[in-house]
Amino acid sequence: MPWRIPPGARKRGTLPDPYAVWLSEVMLQQTTVAAVREYHNKFMCLWPTIHDLSAADDADVMAAWAGLGYYARARNLLKCARAVVANHGGEFPTDHALLLTLPGIGPYTAAAIASIAFDLPETVVDGNVERVMARLYDIHDPLPKSKPALTEKARALTPARRPGDYAQAVMDLGATVCTPRNPACGNCPWRTPCAARIAGTAAELPKKTPKKKTPTRHGIAYVVQRDDGALLLETRPESGLLGGMLGWPGSEWGDAPAPAPPLDANWQTLNTQARHTFTHFHLRLTVMVTTVDAQAASIRGKFISAADFDPESLPTAMRKVYDIAAPALSNA
Ligand code: SF4
Repeated sequence: MPWRIPPGARKRGTLPDPYAVWLSEVMLQQTTVAAVREYHNKFMCLWPTIHDLSAADDADVMAAWAGLGYYARARNLLKCARAVVANHGGEFPTDHALLLTLPGIGPYTAAAIASIAFDLPETVVDGNVERVMARLYDIHDPLPKSKPALTEKARALTPARRPGDYAQAVMDLGATVCTPRNPACGNCPWRTPCAARIAGTAAELPKKTPKKKTPTRHGIAYVVQRDDGALLLETRPESGLLGGMLGWPGSEWGDAPAPAPPLDANWQTLNTQARHTFTHFHLRLTVMVTTVDAQAASIRGKFISAADFDPESLPTAMRKVYDIAAPALSNA
């Protein structure tokens, strides 16, 4: 992982770049390592220091984040970079309580930064660590109720010496050895004391309280193309889902949203819906397209020329709309 330092470096007194660690931890919230790697490299190339990121244009950062999802993270990333530069001279505070005052940094991220970047004995508990603790101590109470007990077990095991290496090692153990299915107990350094391995219960742990069924919301996305190829897009409101990202004008999202076309035109409803799943609901967007002449006026959004339009700058849900609409557009 590009944000890690080489094995043994910490032993020799080298600590990782807190900026790179923070960036990785924010990106890894709700996202896999495989997906984050490319984005982390891109951000480190575009903005190699926190000073560079704090001076970046909001739109450039949102566009670079497009596709990674959970866009509130990108807005908080910028706010946090600016707060660190304005209030802490560009250096992340080492104190857990001060880290918690920064935008987008919750208890887990604060602990991860303090532990990994500053080698402080914080308790870092992600899904991997929860699984390892549940198995090591054969804890059958379901998550999330068991979270405090699992955290307490992880805290008790955190050593005073090289706690940053320890935190990463337990997370890596969960990611690569004590995996959700088929844990490789034969390769595990904790196979001797592991209570679930002895009891034969590892495969059923950790137990989880069943989730409620995910609801489905519906909406309409309007794709307008001018006869010179320009497309009508709007920046979504700062608050709410996909906040601050570029998107197609559309209706509200709900059970039966009212139509809200951005201009009067002959609309064509496409047969294929754009489907996307957020954390708490599935979204089904009906895609409507139209072409208009250069004089057409819209009540919302603005036209972006074909040369300036980059589908990669759209969040995934909006890119899916474009992929469905493009074959129906004459100049796409
Ligand atoms: Fe996980 Fe098996 Fe190791 Fe126990 S022995 S911690 S179940 S990999």
